[in-house]
Amino acid sequence: MTVTEKLAKWYEKNGRDLPWRVKGGAHGDPYQVWISEIMLQQTTVKTVVPYFDRFLKRFPTVRDLAAAPVDDVLLLWQGLGYYTRARKLHECARILVEKYDGRFPSDREKLRKLPGIGPYTSAAIAAFGFNLPEAVVDGNVIRVLTRLKGWKEPVTSIMNQINSFADELTKTSACPADHASAMMDLGSGVCTPKSPLCAFCPLNKDCIAYAEGVTEKIPNITKLKREIKEGFVFRIENEKGEILLRKRTEKGLLSGLTELPWNTDKSFPFKTDWHITKKTVRHVFTHFDLTLTIVNATVTDLPEGSDGFFVPPERFDDYPFSTLMQKVIKKALK
Ligand code: SF4
Repeated sequence: MTVTEKLAKWYEKNGRDLPWRVKGGAHGDPYQVWISEIMLQQTTVKTVVPYFDRFLKRFPTVRDLAAAPVDDVLLLWQGLGYYTRARKLHECARILVEKYDGRFPSDREKLRKLPGIGPYTSAAIAAFGFNLPEAVVDGNVIRVLTRLKGWKEPVTSIMNQINSFADELTKTSACPADHASAMMDLGSGVCTPKSPLCAFCPLNKDCIAYAEGVTEKIPNITKLKREIKEGFVFRIENEKGEILLRKRTEKGLLSGLTELPWNTDKSFPFKTDWHITKKTVRHVFTHFDLTLTIVNATVTDLPEGSDGFFVPPERFDDYPFSTLMQKVIKKALK
């Protein structure tokens, strides 16, 4: 039996049932594939499942998504992080309605021209949505492939080799959609980063890393050093008990979301009687760790030119906040 045949047999019995997955061929609705793939970027399956269900309930079709205000999309995205994904999702839905009559093109080149759809997502839509022989290569798949081949070189230096091997396997598979899912499931449940379950792996007789006893040394990934940042977050209250919020710009980190003003240079936004509290909030972003100290003030009026607007805390649910801000609000308003 070939590697792909063994994998297909294993998947039949062990493949995960996921709300966005259809076994045995193309998903009838590439829209669902797309939503799930965007949500799954940098986020675990367990976290995504309830978000996916809520999202599909509120926006069952690409037309529903395109017709909604972007703030509604951000509200539903609240807590998932990487909010640029939600903005691009919305932008992409509008283009799909305008240019493609609300349907997804199956052609990867056309897919890649859409906002937020890169090489990985275009391959995933083509494979899962249309059952086309496109290799879908994420971190889990890279781990399986490099271990099978026993490749010890840094992953970044052998990406071409990895992609060619992935293509080779995909082309020999009877069902590309299932093959892509099987590779991912094997990587996530069996060929895990630490202590892989090689004894139960359908590919253990084909695996060089297993034969050589070097599974945990592969893949060779150099981790980036994390930056540590500190700053202030301001709880500015007026005499009515309302709190000052502001909206972030449409670009960059946490774009378009609402927040209590904060910075990482520990400067004060204007002159008043500031009280630096002992309360801190820590949040981990992809490339840095952030600790914000809560600083309180009560004001009568905001100085001219100040950024923001006052909102009573009981209306906070109407605004999209990042996970960082949800933590801040919880602590600052206690
Ligand atoms: S034998 Fe072990 S290391 Fe090799 S693919 Fe299977 S689980 Fe991964």
